[in-house]
Amino acid sequence: MNGEHKITGGHRARTALVYLRQSTLMQVREHTESTLRQYALADTAVALGWARQDVEVIDRDLGLSGTSAAHRQGFRELMSRVCLGETGAVFGLEISRLGRSNADLARLAEMARLTDTLLIDSDGVYDLADFNDWLVLGLKSTMSQAELHIMAGRLQAAKRAAAERGELRAPLPVGLVYDDDGMVVLDPDAEVQAAVADIFACFAAAGSAYGVVAAFAGRKFPQRAYGGVWAGQLRWAPLTHHRVLQVLKNPAYAGAYVHGRHVTRKTVDADGNVRTVTAEVPRAQWPVVIKDHHPGYLTWEEYLAIEARLAANHTGGGGRPVREGTALCQGIIICGGCGGPMAANYHGDDRASYECHSHRDGKKTPGCRGITAHAVDDAVAAVLLQALTPEQVALALAAADEVTGQHQRAGRAAELAVERARYEADRAERAFGQVEPENRLVARTLEARWEARLAALADAEQALQTAQAALPPLPDRASLAKLAAGLPALWHAHTTTARDRKRLLRTLIADVTLLPEANQGKARIGIRWHTGAADEIVIDRPKPTGVPAPTPTPATQLIRELGPVTSNAGLVAILAQRGYLTGAGRPFDTKAVQWVRHAYQIPAPSPYDSGQISVADAARRLGCSPGVVYYWIENGQLAARRSPSGRLCIPWTPATEADCHARIASSGHLNPAARRTKPRQRH
Ligand SMILES: [Zn+2]
Repeated sequence: MNGEHKITGGHRARTALVYLRQSTLMQVREHTESTLRQYALADTAVALGWARQDVEVIDRDLGLSGTSAAHRQGFRELMSRVCLGETGAVFGLEISRLGRSNADLARLAEMARLTDTLLIDSDGVYDLADFNDWLVLGLKSTMSQAELHIMAGRLQAAKRAAAERGELRAPLPVGLVYDDDGMVVLDPDAEVQAAVADIFACFAAAGSAYGVVAAFAGRKFPQRAYGGVWAGQLRWAPLTHHRVLQVLKNPAYAGAYVHGRHVTRKTVDADGNVRTVTAEVPRAQWPVVIKDHHPGYLTWEEYLAIEARLAANHTGGGGRPVREGTALCQGIIICGGCGGPMAANYHGDDRASYECHSHRDGKKTPGCRGITAHAVDDAVAAVLLQALTPEQVALALAAADEVTGQHQRAGRAAELAVERARYEADRAERAFGQVEPENRLVARTLEARWEARLAALADAEQALQTAQAALPPLPDRASLAKLAAGLPALWHAHTTTARDRKRLLRTLIADVTLLPEANQGKARIGIRWHTGAADEIVIDRPKPTGVPAPTPTPATQLIRELGPVTSNAGLVAILAQRGYLTGAGRPFDTKAVQWVRHAYQIPAPSPYDSGQISVADAARRLGCSPGVVYYWIENGQLAARRSPSGRLCIPWTPATEADCHARIASSGHLNPAARRTKPRQRH
């Protein structure tokens, strides 16, 4: 061995440490010969004169990455053993790669120099006290670092170039596989296909990832194993929430080729250890997105819709998803006083109110108020339905046509750019194909140019796709108009759930704000549409139930004037004709008129025509009970008519009165005197 003469008896008297490491478990599994060679170093130590019992193998770091010593127990043990001075030599397959970071190796070299420990690898023996050896080892370490850097750089650049063309093969999620030509296709296994498709179907129905998990209860979902003994095989396991999110967020299912969805970043934790964390990259920053790259389970638009829905469900991120209750503006209503969200509170029998909860955080402002939910809901729903009248839809369509025209002009420009880029790329390819293989320098330049043209073509195609994607497909006018006309009925239908109404509301309205209002009786509501437009409406605050609202004066005046001579039904008709409303904002009904009569003590008009009297009056005049009069009327002995309000009116004349008196006088039942005398007369 090179430099064997540097080994002295002093070194041989101390322990020889054989340090083994292999970055990943895959390397350990697949590069078995390397592992064997590392273990063979123990034999080398014996061959170099160490006693077998003095040779120790440190193999705790097999399968751990060498990028940092932080998690490598074996390397730490090695360092401490060297520091103690009880080690004669350290054996490694390649000393310069012992610690991947220069810092690790520099520390080891420094300690070895101080404790007169030799470092030995297949290249030879390094005595760090020897300046020459120290220099050689330092150089080798720097070289290996540089080599790593250059290799990684080349690999990354090659990967990036392939990815930009959509040709870098990445592991595919379950449900998609590579066919024999390397193209991405749907998994031919019908069961797998159905399971994946069902996730999207369940999400569309349930609206949440947890809903999908619930729908899959008792059913297993396939997962493809990457690496390991099970590599490439399908395993069926219960579906977890995490898995559902993985599937829903994976753009590969939408037929898109995406590179760079995740980045790894290095962080230093509190103990000074370097950790590598993987983070998701926001969709807008994905470096490579190629739509319609392969067949998928859903369209790109559907993928975006799922993304938006997931974001809305994410309460931790500020999302306020649609809940079960009837309060329509739940989740989108904001307090105009403090700017915080208002909560929908239910007070039994489904009556709800919106209340600002900022007092919990001590942020309550004088403008913070609550309001009955139905008052806001009715007003907002009315505005929404008004915005969806056939006329409004027609107007919106006309505007959309105008925008479409502009888009088409922009789209045409993008199409031409793609055509030109394709021509340039073809030309570069032809030029490359015509060059003689011997003319390597020229070929290399032409290849680079071809590569650049292909990249430009990909860019142009991407721009065209973006232009086309920005163009929303317009449904035909007739069906839209029909839909808009039927909307109010659909909105009020019993089969339409509160959840459906809220979702519909949220498709158009971004948020609703209860604005501060000085007038206690009014509420000012701001409505912000998704289009960016804003509306403001003012409604009457509903009065607390139990206390009737004071009726506005003109209506009261009318009831006072006409009340004594007009029936309640007549008053209702007149009030409706003049368009008067009650204090609660509703049209007058009989009950409301009755209330005003009671409040202002307005007498009702007499239902009796002249010459007619009531049952009570008749009873009083005859000196009998009203029951007797009712009995006569029922038996046809006394004429009477019913007024529109249901009262009995008896036409009263002196003759009628005389008849009645006679009837009483002759009745033993009614006249005790007559009863007493008649039987006695028979005796
Ligand atoms: Zn508030």
